[in-house]
Amino acid sequence: VNRSDVHYFGAGPAPLPTPVLEQAAQVLLNYKDKGIGLCEISHRSPEANEILTDAKQSLTTLLDIPDDYEILFLQSGGSGEFSATVYNLVSIWVEKKRAKIAQEVGDDQAEVLKRLRKVVDEELKLDYLVTGSWSLKASQEAARLVGSKYVNVAVDARKANGGKFGVIPPEDQWRLTPRTSGSGPALAYFCDNETVDGVEFPSFPHSLDGDDAPLVCGDMSSNFISRKVDVRKYAIIFGGAQKNIGNTGIAIVIIRKSLLPPHSTPASPDLLRELGLPVGPIVLDYPTIAKNNSLYNTLPIFDVWVAGQVMAGLVHAYGTKRIGGQEEISNEKAQLIYDVLDKYSQIYRVVPDKSVRSRMNICFRVHGGDADKEKAFLVGAEKKGLLGLKGHRSVGGIRASNYNAVSVEGAKKLVAYLEEYAQS
Ligand code: PLP
Repeated sequence: VNRSDVHYFGAGPAPLPTPVLEQAAQVLLNYKDKGIGLCEISHRSPEANEILTDAKQSLTTLLDIPDDYEILFLQSGGSGEFSATVYNLVSIWVEKKRAKIAQEVGDDQAEVLKRLRKVVDEELKLDYLVTGSWSLKASQEAARLVGSKYVNVAVDARKANGGKFGVIPPEDQWRLTPRTSGSGPALAYFCDNETVDGVEFPSFPHSLDGDDAPLVCGDMSSNFISRKVDVRKYAIIFGGAQKNIGNTGIAIVIIRKSLLPPHSTPASPDLLRELGLPVGPIVLDYPTIAKNNSLYNTLPIFDVWVAGQVMAGLVHAYGTKRIGGQEEISNEKAQLIYDVLDKYSQIYRVVPDKSVRSRMNICFRVHGGDADKEKAFLVGAEKKGLLGLKGHRSVGGIRASNYNAVSVEGAKKLVAYLEEYAQS
């Protein structure tokens, strides 16, 4: 089967632009005519540094990332960032509280610790908006690490939708930890696009905005660089690269510099242990990764190269429109697919509510979820070279992932099949 005969709608890993892969084959064998491949050269070589710098520059250009943000690359995957956000932001929160108490009571360490214990016990909160399977997992990881009593599930979207994900309840129903200046949750977390459930935030939630905004962590694993983002609203944006940006192996973190030294100091590991709070592994420690330009330990530079090539391609293609150019195309493809699903609503049922439909992961049922008919639908799709359409094992059904490397032509082929199937 030829690559060009196939359109792949898998949810991740996801397709990559063919020219990038062709070039990748070349650089794996012989990078820049050095007679040695990219997986073989040192991550501390000038070549590797250039690759890192270029990838950062392309991401900065695409998303218009302000100067007061740092870009980090880690091997953590998206899931590792569920933990990293908790370790790092809880540590900063604790240190801030400690410093404030120390100012009040002076040198009496026993008194500082006593008061700090009380503050942690009464005030430490991590807010999670649970709108799908991935934010649920992130909230569960937070509870596993710091203890469930500190985790505030500000919204559980299943409760508003008969036990299933598929809606984002109105913001006035969210139970966020109250914030006043200088106080509030250690973090407020949401998943911008829920890959399994096909739920995407239409825009940044107002409740997490404003002067007293909490430190917002946004998981963009499955809609990274697919639309404009106001980076300033976030303390941390993160995502695994393997859906919209590159191949599996790295996660990208965009972090506000004020959360890194010298502006913010993490709590000492001994203090965290005293308080019964977790000490994170060094490879997830943002200050350490930032200080070492993402090269604290061996970084898979080939993966950064692939991501860099993909992003440079978008910079080149969209010029001054930057990521707005990709946004237009992503919207167009999603619209084409949703339109045909809505047109044949007696055959297809889009799973999430219309107001929160993901542009990236289009989840639907065929004939009310009839198992045999959905199987036949998938077999028919495969015959046409439309692959990877099976829904996530936890929810079933059909999922068309519409990531950046899915072409308009691919989306149109899917639309034609959806038409044909509905009329057959
Ligand atoms: N977050 C989202 C939204 C995802 O879709 C995924 C994976 O599909 C993850 C996190 C986890 O990523 P990883 O498998 O890289 O840990």
